[in-house]
Amino acid sequence: MKEAIYPGSFDPVTYGHLDIIHRAASIFDELTVSVLNNVEKTPLFSVQERVKILEEATKDLPNVKVESFSGLLIDHAAEKGIHVSVRGLRAITDFEYELQIAQTNKLLSNGKLDTIFLTTSLEYAYLSSSSVKEIASFNGDISKCVPPFVAKLIYEKYGHRV
Ligand code: ADP
Repeated sequence: MKEAIYPGSFDPVTYGHLDIIHRAASIFDELTVSVLNNVEKTPLFSVQERVKILEEATKDLPNVKVESFSGLLIDHAAEKGIHVSVRGLRAITDFEYELQIAQTNKLLSNGKLDTIFLTTSLEYAYLSSSSVKEIASFNGDISKCVPPFVAKLIYEKYGHRV
């Protein structure tokens, strides 16, 4: 069985992430979307909230499951016996950062964890969780960025009426 893991902050999940999830789920037999509990970042949504949101957003995909982890991706992947990490590339600006993570993971895992990149679908190339949060904080329109139930939750966090 071909398995992969898609790690990320997903704070919150956007249509860009969901596009990568749908495409990766059609390539691999099983895809684990894993929410990183990054203690250095102050997230808008807790890890538990992000897991719940992702579960709801991927409920129509039977071969996708959602988890969370803290610490190193290579340890989390090794525990699960997964050898492929999926990441998304939007623009050249993502490339340097993603290349560095991919090579570090390969080295630290003694070659056991490889990274596969899916390039963004053009309509989502502009999308990032941080821009969605910035727009929503000013009560701007995020309907093209995230599913309706996610938009509602984001506006609520910023105290905007929906
Ligand atoms: P991280 O904090 O690890 O960067 P993110 O949740 O921001 O986590 O992103 C997780 C992965 O999804 C990264 O590989 C990122 O490049 C990718 N990604 C984010 N937004 C998009 C998008 N609009 N299109 C394609 N890939 C994306």
